[in-house]
Amino acid sequence: MDSVKLVLIGAPGSGKGTLAQKLAKKYDIPHISTGDIIRDHIAQETPVGLQAKDVLARGELVSDELIMQLVKATLDSPKMEKGYILDGFPRTLAQATWFVQNFNVNHYIIFDISQETVIERISGRRIHPASGRIYHTKFSPPKVEGKDDETGEELMQREDDKPERVRNRLKVYEELTFPIIAYIEKNADNVAHINAELTETEILSATEKII
Ligand code: AMP
Repeated sequence: MDSVKLVLIGAPGSGKGTLAQKLAKKYDIPHISTGDIIRDHIAQETPVGLQAKDVLARGELVSDELIMQLVKATLDSPKMEKGYILDGFPRTLAQATWFVQNFNVNHYIIFDISQETVIERISGRRIHPASGRIYHTKFSPPKVEGKDDETGEELMQREDDKPERVRNRLKVYEELTFPIIAYIEKNADNVAHINAELTETEILSATEKII
């Protein structure tokens, strides 16, 4: 295998972030989450961060122009030659068109999942901000409630994982994703679907078969 370049497309809470972390470790390639890139900019108060802060807080998408700039800058790095896992992108038809026309990946992996499952998963999600480690109050709880396993530091709930924000994110996601999937299926010959209602282990092994 020369390189493993994957694009994961799934609703917030579909399990794609968790899968991306596992695949990144297994294949020793970077996990590129556009949401994390933007949150880093916000935390560091860069010009991009200042521009994106209110947009994120409202649960809306940042502009295509901004996100394409960030993705191009990230993927053009020589560190990406061995592969990467792109998570959270493309989120609009314009992003999908630009990406399919300018980048070659091994697989587009689409996560199929119901809304009810997504809401249950997201509302329990907790993160350790410093490392990006993800837990779930019910499905993968930390050893000590509310604390990171490795550092013992406090876990947080992301502002946009709170129920009212989740509803808005799902609405935005659904409106935008259907045409994206249709476009990619029409214009790329390497699209695979995963049943994201399965357990994390089952999803991982289904993905490994595809790779
Ligand atoms: P995520 O962590 O992927 O749910 O992303 C969190 C937020 O970052 C989203 O709600 C958007 O505001 C922004 N974002 C991340 N990826 C994109 C993208 N591809 N296009 C536009 N906005 C994005």
